[in-house]
Amino acid sequence: MTKLVLTQEKELSQEEIKELQEEVRKLAKKKNAVILAHYYQRPEVQDIADFVGDSLELARKASKTDADIIVFCGVRFMCETAKIVNPTKKVLHPNPESGCPMADMITADQVRKLREKHPDAEFVAYINTTADVKAEVDICVTSANAPKIIKKLNAKKIVFLPDQALGNWVAKQVPDKEFVIWKGFCPPHFEFTYKELLKLKKQYPDAKVAVHPECHPKVIELADFVGSTSQIIKYATSVDVNRVIIITEVGLKHTLQKINPNKEYIFPQSMNYCRTVYCCTMKGITLPKVYETLKNETNEVILPEDIIERAKRPIQRMLDLS
Ligand code: SF4
Repeated sequence: MTKLVLTQEKELSQEEIKELQEEVRKLAKKKNAVILAHYYQRPEVQDIADFVGDSLELARKASKTDADIIVFCGVRFMCETAKIVNPTKKVLHPNPESGCPMADMITADQVRKLREKHPDAEFVAYINTTADVKAEVDICVTSANAPKIIKKLNAKKIVFLPDQALGNWVAKQVPDKEFVIWKGFCPPHFEFTYKELLKLKKQYPDAKVAVHPECHPKVIELADFVGSTSQIIKYATSVDVNRVIIITEVGLKHTLQKINPNKEYIFPQSMNYCRTVYCCTMKGITLPKVYETLKNETNEVILPEDIIERAKRPIQRMLDLS
């Protein structure tokens, strides 16, 4: 199981950060490596990346790169996806302990058992699943394309896994299909409560509210906008108000401030876990770990060939349809 709490080795000074960032960039150039980072990464890690994006954008980048090495700054399932879509590349994961608790909430064996129960259904997996699970399903989706893709599927019955919040949100938008939804969830998003959001709305009555669909349905109900991280970026940086309350992982603030620093982005932050949206495993990727991994070419992502072959099909189908 994924470890929930990972801490950085020691706090680095601004000077040390700058020095290490320069070293990483030099190494990347020398080794023809591309550094991909998710929006939820630490700011100092995002700043050394060749590309920062959401799961869909990163999968696309990984599939098209001609670099020899992909250093993937994200959680394990993202590195696996990069390996699956571009298996001849060396994919390095700066912290192999950084998994996704939601992805660990369903196994390949559980999917096979579900198949026996629902032989007439099309199996749709959120990209936040392990490679073994992807190898068992018909198509993958991300939070950016799930409604659009599921509307295009022929089957009347959809088994959606593993995220119940995303599944319920999509099901509302595709009422002509029957949904069987797995009860997985993203702890940082799902455990943030609507009461906390009500407090923020009261504190900032002029603000609009943008929410990620991994959040609890009661939180989603209070939103002005619901979408993936890349969709939230577009909305929050362009909406006609000065303040936007954002209910997703706080790492996104770094990108928002870079794109449009004239707005105020309010993220819930507190020492109380249920009052904030902070993904400990995403933050388990630190600058020193990126440096060491690239320097020594360690933590290579290795997957069995048959899993790569079988998991590639649902990912490719998603990329073709989105
Ligand atoms: S934010 Fe949630 S879904 Fe994303 S990696 Fe963290 S636990 Fe997994």
